[in-house]
Amino acid sequence: MARTEVDRCPGVLAVHQAADGGLARVRLPGGRLTAAQLDVLRLAATELGDGRLELTSRGNVQLRGLDADGPQDLSDRLFAAGLLPSLAHERVRNILASPLSGLDQESRYDVMPVVAALDQALCEHPALAGLPGRFLFALDDGRGDLADLRADVTVRALDDRTGLLSLGDRGVPVEWARVPALMVAAAAAFLLVRDQEWRIAEVPDGAERILEELGLQATEPLPAESTRVVAGGHGTALVATVPLGSLTQEQAAVLAQVAPEVRITPWRSVVVPAVARGLEEVGLVTTSGSRWEGVTACAGQPGCAKALADVRADATRLVADAAGDGLPRVFGRGRRVHWSGCERRCGKPAGSYVDVLAVGDGYQVDGERV
Ligand code: SF4
Repeated sequence: MARTEVDRCPGVLAVHQAADGGLARVRLPGGRLTAAQLDVLRLAATELGDGRLELTSRGNVQLRGLDADGPQDLSDRLFAAGLLPSLAHERVRNILASPLSGLDQESRYDVMPVVAALDQALCEHPALAGLPGRFLFALDDGRGDLADLRADVTVRALDDRTGLLSLGDRGVPVEWARVPALMVAAAAAFLLVRDQEWRIAEVPDGAERILEELGLQATEPLPAESTRVVAGGHGTALVATVPLGSLTQEQAAVLAQVAPEVRITPWRSVVVPAVARGLEEVGLVTTSGSRWEGVTACAGQPGCAKALADVRADATRLVADAAGDGLPRVFGRGRRVHWSGCERRCGKPAGSYVDVLAVGDGYQVDGERV
């Protein structure tokens, strides 16, 4: 499918103007942030934005409510903190990784060093600054937690020597030492075979043509199983759900104190690779089964001019409603739940989810008026 639209994916240098001010998206390969970097973001959100850090469905962070001078100040701070290693590539550093990689027994291979090598190779390749902002890489440590996210180029660990490189529904085993170069080569080949498409899946026979450019043939079926990372203890790490994926100042400050680094997950939770105390006291949820787990919402009113409701306030009210008699069908379906202020459904999760949609004078749940 050819496109003629401009790539409007926001970044730090390409700030999106929303109803509540500038919106900047900071790419975090592998979702990783040192405590010092988290503190830089926390202070920037307080001093330049609305005070909150929004977690995104790709494990990145957004700041909202920036005024006219905010973007320049923000980019200076992020550059100094090592969060903008290449100005030209800032919107294309879209690298997901299994957030618990190397931290528990489900991890077949620690992919975090591969994330760093891939990020460096990406930033050193001038042509890849032209990748669409939606193009996505994924490094799965073997547990299958990223399967639903449908990255363009995925490598899933088979063991500590080999990963399965896939661009579609079949893969080819490759040695880990070759993985960063091959993923970068696949992205470069995408730029050669595409017209104006944003994703490999949109290019006719895209996966086959790119693999041919690489001299590879995908023969192995992808493992079907997929696991879900829930809140609670996992090996040496703790996963904390962040209600509606919106970190407050207080929560960010506590997280920056309890561990030398944190990892933002694509499910809007945070992995703390350490024994951590004091998280529940600031409203983070460290046990599974909470109503907050899997509940997400777009910006809604008043942040977005298109919104038909203050979806975040309504979602919060419903989650806090212990009896659950507000919109009972929203819960208990075993799926994620996403609240949208209009039909664009920004930030919706990958895969199956309960669709709660504002329609002006109420909501629809999975297409049914409630
Ligand atoms: S889904 Fe609609 S209301 Fe919500 S942020 Fe996107 S455009 Fe705005």
